Amino acid sequence: MLKLGVGACIVGSPVRYSGDAKRHNPFMDSVACVAELVAFCPEVAIGLGVPREPIRLVDENGEVRVKDSSSQTQDFTLKLQNAAQSFLQRNTDLSGYILVKGSPSCGTERVKVYNEKGNVFHHKGQGGFVSELLRIEPLLPVEDDGRLNDARIRENFFIRAYVYRDWKKLQREELTAHRLITFYSRYKYLVMAHDTTAYKEIGRLLADAGKVDIDVLTAQFIELLMSAIKDPAKRSGLTNAMQHVRGYLKRTISAIEKADVDRSIDDYRTGLVPLVVPMKMLQHLFNVHPNEYIKTQVFMSPYPEELRLRNSI
Ligand code: SF4
Repeated sequence: MLKLGVGACIVGSPVRYSGDAKRHNPFMDSVACVAELVAFCPEVAIGLGVPREPIRLVDENGEVRVKDSSSQTQDFTLKLQNAAQSFLQRNTDLSGYILVKGSPSCGTERVKVYNEKGNVFHHKGQGGFVSELLRIEPLLPVEDDGRLNDARIRENFFIRAYVYRDWKKLQREELTAHRLITFYSRYKYLVMAHDTTAYKEIGRLLADAGKVDIDVLTAQFIELLMSAIKDPAKRSGLTNAMQHVRGYLKRTISAIEKADVDRSIDDYRTGLVPLVVPMKMLQHLFNVHPNEYIKTQVFMSPYPEELRLRNSI
């Protein structure tokens, strides 16, 4: 099962500075059905009460610190960093983290930063807890709850989280060039859908796999893979990947089936139907005409269907 960290206030815990929780997001119910959610409030964990005085990010000569909002004299940065470190030590099998928009502890981006006089200086901050999470585990998929309301961002977050989960699983074994190549072979069409340049780059890297030190190879590989899928795939990329997958059916399906599946892919390309429509048709055709290679492709089913993520993109 996928294990995700989640800001406690998103899943109903009344731990916000004001003493309440955030408004219930029904999407989190479907997430809870497929993932183990580890609810955590870093501000409560470092001993701040509920309710409490809000904290904020403050720029001090170019260094961003987390401070109390009234006097900006109490510094919570180190405590939040320690909370992130011990959270990751307790949850080594974490595959992603759903954080909280705008929070000085849990906001992944565009958090308000004040100057030393107490005025808003810019909006480019990142919460003190998240910064430390990502310093320790830079490839960990993270997303703000607010951004998850966008269907494409939501779908992409789950793709990244499931890839990262599988990657962590693989790391428990002794890594060899062969294992890496076998692992990647399942992701080819997923990567192709996201980024054809990265697709070629990873192919080149693995073609020389035997000649490179395995630790160097591993680090380069996972960085390339996670960065290839960092952003949501575009309609054109998904269409291209589906057409490649469809190519495996050319000798097995009838002319009518060919016309149907091609029309379905084209209807997706032009925005007439969501991604689930051609993907369902491809899945059905591969059920009838199985193909061992396509069966291994994560692109065909990157996350549990209950999430219904392909229904709205
Ligand atoms: S945003 Fe983070 S620190 Fe603030 S209440 Fe929610 S979980 Fe706690």
